[in-house]
Amino acid sequence: LGPRMVKGALYTYVRPDAQGEPELLAVSQRALQDIGLSEEEAKTDEFKEVVAGKKILTWNESTPEQGIYPWAQCYGGYQFGQWAGQLGDGRAISLFESTNPSTDTRYEIQLKGAGRTPYSRFADGRAVLRSSIREFVVSEYLNAIGIPSTRALSLTLNRGSKIMRERVEPGAIVTRFAQSWIRFGTFDLQRIRGDRNTLRTLADYTAEHVYGGWDKLPSKLPAGDAKEVHHQTSEGVAKDTTEGEGVGEENRYVRLYRAILRRNAETVAKWQAYGFMNGVLNTDNTSILGLSIDFGPFAFLDTFDPSYTPNHDDHMLRYSYRNQPTIIWWNLVRLGEALGELMGAGSKVDEQTFVDKGVTEDQESEVVQRAESVIERAGEEYKAVFLAEYKRLMTARLGLKTHQDSDFETLFSELLDILEKYELDFHHAFRRLSAVTLKDVETENARKDSAGRFFRADSVPRQEDESRARIAKWLENWSSRVRQDWGEGQDEERQQAMHAVNPKFVPRSWILDELIDRVEKKHERDILPQIMKLTLNPFQENWAWNQDEEERFCGDVPKYKGMMQCSCSS
Ligand code: AMP
Ligand code: MG
Ligand code: MG
Repeated sequence: LGPRMVKGALYTYVRPDAQGEPELLAVSQRALQDIGLSEEEAKTDEFKEVVAGKKILTWNESTPEQGIYPWAQCYGGYQFGQWAGQLGDGRAISLFESTNPSTDTRYEIQLKGAGRTPYSRFADGRAVLRSSIREFVVSEYLNAIGIPSTRALSLTLNRGSKIMRERVEPGAIVTRFAQSWIRFGTFDLQRIRGDRNTLRTLADYTAEHVYGGWDKLPSKLPAGDAKEVHHQTSEGVAKDTTEGEGVGEENRYVRLYRAILRRNAETVAKWQAYGFMNGVLNTDNTSILGLSIDFGPFAFLDTFDPSYTPNHDDHMLRYSYRNQPTIIWWNLVRLGEALGELMGAGSKVDEQTFVDKGVTEDQESEVVQRAESVIERAGEEYKAVFLAEYKRLMTARLGLKTHQDSDFETLFSELLDILEKYELDFHHAFRRLSAVTLKDVETENARKDSAGRFFRADSVPRQEDESRARIAKWLENWSSRVRQDWGEGQDEERQQAMHAVNPKFVPRSWILDELIDRVEKKHERDILPQIMKLTLNPFQENWAWNQDEEERFCGDVPKYKGMMQCSCSS
């Protein structure tokens, strides 16, 4: 037992070793669709055995050269700002890749919690049911609200397995999938080791096989002073195209870096707009595809508190809500350093020279200079992409069709200040605002009444008069912007538009805790599939499996169960 250093390679073949008697607890219907499996296929014994790690689908024992053998990836990472050395998939084992023929999307499918790998170090390669339930739900929820995420197909309980944590707990396996599981830490490790050959192979693989080819990468740098950049929205519409002079034939690794940067800038903007915190944004938990990845002590905000971190051990608040954009940039600078030699290469020193011979001192200073200037300009691009996406989302969440510069102060910041000061619920604020009609906010008194919608059902803030007056003022500004964008008599249309971007259901920590308790201790078997209905359809009204229970899960956070923290042991 202990660390095994894997050098000159990015993965190791390894065999899953599932424990206990498998019980399939849940399958995500959305995941089935996206992978291209039918509901019937998910009911077969073969499916259950494969997702439980009991059967290796494509490994042919008699002709192994024709099959594929499961593997675990090798990576490193900066944890809490410190280089942590080789980490790797200590409890994740990839089974195979699978392409959905109707979308032509390829996924790498893997098991989490199916036993030790060469990267397990001193740990057991297992995952407890508690953290597996959390990962299963949040992966599918983030995807359902349009935030890029690694996905979860199924959750299997390993009955009879005993996992030692702070107490003895049952183990589980989540079958998960993503277009790529490569992390920033995959690059960091090769850079720290000075393995230029493997690093370049990894960069080429990422461009060619993950991003779909060098020609798919962005080709022009935005002008130094550009406020906005060419920005691909999720509808595929290009807007804000005030791109400056490109630098022409840009170094292709710079283009790769910028593609990774843009994806991550957009994802962190989405986290901020929807109040999601990863909780451990180490470089091994930052995806080169900008996916939300590695769900440990994650959480959604309850009340709006920018300095909140869901990670119980994060005393410095490094991974707090407010820090996430800065931390992703910090991670991107590390990635820039890893790609530095490749990005700094130019006419005099080409990429192959590095791999073959390394560099002389004066070549090195030229390369370092170029790489530094790339990273500096990338910082501007990161900010621009982040802001464009954040503005787009907040504009939609507030029910507006256009963005004006003054909205940032008058609407976004002021709303967040109000929510923070009076400890109001972040998610309810948006959802309940959608039901406010223009008539509801016509007079000062009507606005003060409507302010009550932001309060809990069972109590008002201590400074009730002050908060009502301030919310009323905000509603006045908001309604005049709504009038500009929609005109009169469009309340219903606007409400529909707002419902489509403001979830009714949010898998908050207290809900996940209750869910875990009911599945693990009370052995309930209906609750998880029911919660999955809310998870996969978070914008919808009235599922009515049990109206009261559903309203409770979509309602106010029970007193003293808000803003909980989670420790990392999972
Ligand atoms: P994380 O904190 O989830 O980012 O994990 C950091 C590293 O610890 C990764 O290399 C994980 O694979 C590894 N790890 C975490 N838990 C276990 C476990 N129970 N068994 C083996 N490796 C683990
Ligand atoms: Mg990790
Ligand atoms: Mg983890």
